Amino acid sequence: MIRPSRIKEFGHELGIDVIKITTAEPFTEEAAKILEQKNEGLYLRSEHWYKRNIDKICDVQTKLPGAKAIIAACQCYLTDEVTDHTEPGKPHGLIARYTWRNHYLDLRKRLRKLGHFIKKESGASFRVFSNGPVAEKPIAVRSGIGFYGKHSIIINRTYGSWIVLGEIVTNVELEPDSRALGDCGDCQKCIDACPTGALIRPYILDRRRCIQALTNWYGVIPDDIARVWGNRLYGCSICQDVCPLNEKVKSQKPRTDLGYVGPSLPLLEILNIDEAEYRRRYSNNQITSSWIKFPAIQRNALICLGHIQDTTTLPFLKKFIPHNDAILAETAEWAIARLKNGS
Ligand code: SF4
Ligand code: SF4
Repeated sequence: MIRPSRIKEFGHELGIDVIKITTAEPFTEEAAKILEQKNEGLYLRSEHWYKRNIDKICDVQTKLPGAKAIIAACQCYLTDEVTDHTEPGKPHGLIARYTWRNHYLDLRKRLRKLGHFIKKESGASFRVFSNGPVAEKPIAVRSGIGFYGKHSIIINRTYGSWIVLGEIVTNVELEPDSRALGDCGDCQKCIDACPTGALIRPYILDRRRCIQALTNWYGVIPDDIARVWGNRLYGCSICQDVCPLNEKVKSQKPRTDLGYVGPSLPLLEILNIDEAEYRRRYSNNQITSSWIKFPAIQRNALICLGHIQDTTTLPFLKKFIPHNDAILAETAEWAIARLKNGS
C-alpha cells in the first residue's frame, strides 16, 4: 500500500502543481453528455478524435484493465513574458498561451516519474496521460482539481483556467479526494466576449464556431468568423483572458523549454516554408502534432494578414492565387479583399 499523502508529496517535489485522486469508475453521465452534443452537431467531424469511441474514452478500464484509481494533476502555464513578437515589417500571428511550450509533454514526463515511484513503493502498474485520450475534464472535476467554467474549461481555485491536465491510471487502491466545488455564479463574461458566439449557452461550446477548434480544422472559414478572427495563428483564449477567476492567478517561471515556439510566429515565414520545414522548425509542440494539417496553419496565416492590413504583404497573398489548393486560394482572395477594403 502507498498513502495518497506520500504520492502528493513526491509529486510536488517533482514540480507538479496540484495532485488529486479519484476512483477508476467510468464516467457514464459525462459520456452521455458528450454523445448528446455530438448528436446536436456541435463537433467538427474532421477532428482527429471525432471517430473515437466515447465510452472507451470515458472508462479508464479500457486503458488499464483492473484500474482502481486515477491520480489527476494539473500544471499552471501562466508566465509574464511578452505576448507578441511582431516587429515593424515582420507581422506575427498569435499562438495560444497553452501551447507556447509543450506543457503536456512536460507534465507527462513528471507523471511518469511519479508513476515509477508508485510502482517502486507498491508494485502497482500504471499508465500516464496528458491531452487525452481519457476524459480529462470529468476526471479533473471528480478528483477535485477544478470545476467547469461556463466556457467549458476547467477552473482551478489557485491557478484559474491557465492549466494543463494530466493523469496516472493505476491498479493500486487509493483514498479518493472529494469533487471540486465552485461555480461561476452570475458571471457570463466569457459568453459575452466570445467573438463568434461559440458559447451557445453556459457550459456548451459549438466547436464549429470556436476559433480555438477551427485553427486546426481544415476548410474555408466562413466570412462571419474570419472577420473576427484577428491575428490568431493557432488557438484562441479570449474567453480565458476575460475571466475574473483568472485575474488573481500569479505568473509562474517557465517550467520547461520543451517544444518552445513562443507567443507568436512570423507569418511571412509560415507562408514561405513547406510542411517538412514547418515540422522541423517547430518540432515537439502541439502545433506540429501528426494530426495538425499544415495547410490549416497556412490558411490561418492568410486570414491573419487580412486582419493586419499591411499592404507590403500583398505579394505574399497573391502568390496563393491561383494555387493548387482551392481552400488556400479562396482564403487568400478573402484576405486581399479585406486588406484592400479595410473591412
Ligand atoms: S476559444 Fe475563442 S472562439 Fe472559442 S469559445 Fe473561447 S473565445 Fe470563443
Ligand atoms: S468568465 Fe465568468 S462565466 Fe466565464 S468561466 Fe469565468 S467566471 Fe465563469
